[in-house]
Amino acid sequence: MAKKVAIIGAGPAGLTAAYLLGKAQQEVVVFEKDPQYVGGISRTETYKGYAFDIGGHRFFSKSKEVEDFWTEILGDEMLERPRSSRIYYNKKFFSYPLVAMEALQKLGIIESGLCVLSYLQAKMFPVKNPTNFEDWVTNQFGKRLFNIFFRTYTEKVWGIPCKEISADWAAQRIKGLSLSSAIWNALFKPKASGGKDKVIKTLIDSFRYPKRGPGLMWETCRDKCIAMGVQVEMNCGAKGVHQEAGKWSITTTDGRTFEGFDHVLSSAPIRELIPSIQPQLEASGYQAAQKLGYRDFLTVVLICKDEDAFDDNWIYIHDPSVKVGRIQNFKSWSPYMVPDPAMACYGLEYFCFEGDGLWTSKDEDLIALATKEMVQIGLTKASAVVDGYVVRQPKAYPVYDHTYKENVEAIREALKPYPGIYLMGRNGMHKYNNQDHSMMTAMLAAKNIIAGEELYDVWNVNEDAEYHEGGLRGEEDTQKVVGRLVPKRVQ
Ligand SMILES: Cc1cc2nc3c(=O)[nH]c(=O)nc-3n(C[C@H](O)[C@H](O)[C@H](O)COP(=O)(O)OP(=O)(O)OC[C@H]3O[C@@H](n4cnc5c(N)ncnc54)[C@H](O)[C@@H]3O)c2cc1C
Repeated sequence: MAKKVAIIGAGPAGLTAAYLLGKAQQEVVVFEKDPQYVGGISRTETYKGYAFDIGGHRFFSKSKEVEDFWTEILGDEMLERPRSSRIYYNKKFFSYPLVAMEALQKLGIIESGLCVLSYLQAKMFPVKNPTNFEDWVTNQFGKRLFNIFFRTYTEKVWGIPCKEISADWAAQRIKGLSLSSAIWNALFKPKASGGKDKVIKTLIDSFRYPKRGPGLMWETCRDKCIAMGVQVEMNCGAKGVHQEAGKWSITTTDGRTFEGFDHVLSSAPIRELIPSIQPQLEASGYQAAQKLGYRDFLTVVLICKDEDAFDDNWIYIHDPSVKVGRIQNFKSWSPYMVPDPAMACYGLEYFCFEGDGLWTSKDEDLIALATKEMVQIGLTKASAVVDGYVVRQPKAYPVYDHTYKENVEAIREALKPYPGIYLMGRNGMHKYNNQDHSMMTAMLAAKNIIAGEELYDVWNVNEDAEYHEGGLRGEEDTQKVVGRLVPKRVQ
């Protein structure tokens, strides 16, 4: 018999679950609080015909199941795009992934030598059992490289000192922003793991990308869901999640109540979901949810005359003299993102906290700041900027501070008396997931529901970001990628 499933959020996790459940003829209602966009953080917004992501979104996964899913949804509408990215530091641009000789030359022989010495010192006298980001990275690369290439960018992203960031994050995400790991690879390990070819293959140089951004993927997925009978309620936040006599009901921000669900799949931020659950969770879980932290994010989109300034997809800004953390060049992601070939569209990414000075700045002030910083970095002239637009994204990043893990554990424990509810996705599980891992959690939840038994532990999907920088696309099936994804009954 078909199960009735409520899905909170029409982001990648929610729509993946909806698609798989719809295909298996389950009865599905998706609740999305946004009035217009599906795709969540992976949406594509538009302004005067210009399309842009909330941070450029690469489609790359080691999971064959995820890659196949994207192909099934978009087919030929997925482009194969070359990857080009650089790091801006100390008024210089470094290729990323790094080219060893170029880096040596740009850092200078003396600085490079000092980095090597500091690396050797860290190897001889490592911090024992590092628990924070600074100590973990210093152990790996030495203090000097940490100070040059990690501290500024990381503290821009998280807004807290590196000593307050859990070493977990470093272990999972280090390659995503690491010039120093690239320097380290280039200087110390060029042949260490199977010769030059292997090293080159582990640094992804192309990725798939939907013709008109990630939004196209999720809008098409939504349309296919609806065609299969899935009900998608937009502008309809879930504000109450009630369990009674083994069934769930959802009350929504527009005052309606939807009843009779066997399951609830939530990709809403845990800190918001938990207080909405009735009966209320026991105090330990309830309070733990309130302690989870988030980092917010805004993109200032600048529409400029295209003066061929650069063709990178994105540039990391490691330089402390500007506030911007990363710059996207959306025409390089896909030419279809820009309606006029004579124009370019850049996205300047600023990391902030909801309510702080940046977040509450007027849009025109943010556009002026972004213009000033683009000119300072040398990527455009003020006279080339013709228009601007600001997109704010609350809860862009779940914060990995020193207590997040125990808080998530306490919440999972407190949810045990609530059968039928699954947390999934990025903020839904407080995991620093990319789309693919968010989707995998949804796939496993859907598989459990379709099977009518708990075959998989959704929490075993890990978020190891090395998949985005290393490894080959679709080389493994989902079971292998997540490693411990063995059906529970055979464990
Ligand atoms: C700057 C940046 C760059 C990124 N780059 C990449 C990349 O290159 N490649 C990649 O694969 N991933 C990337 N990601 C990660 C990717 O955006 C996320 O992994 C993905 O969007 C998570 O999907 P999700 O469905 O779990 O959550 P979300 O995308 O957060 O979607 C959740 C949805 O739930 C809705 N919602 C929340 N609460 C409620 C409620 N109470 N009721 C109803 N609806 C609700 C939200 O409006 C949203 O639509 C990036 C993220 C950021 C911030």
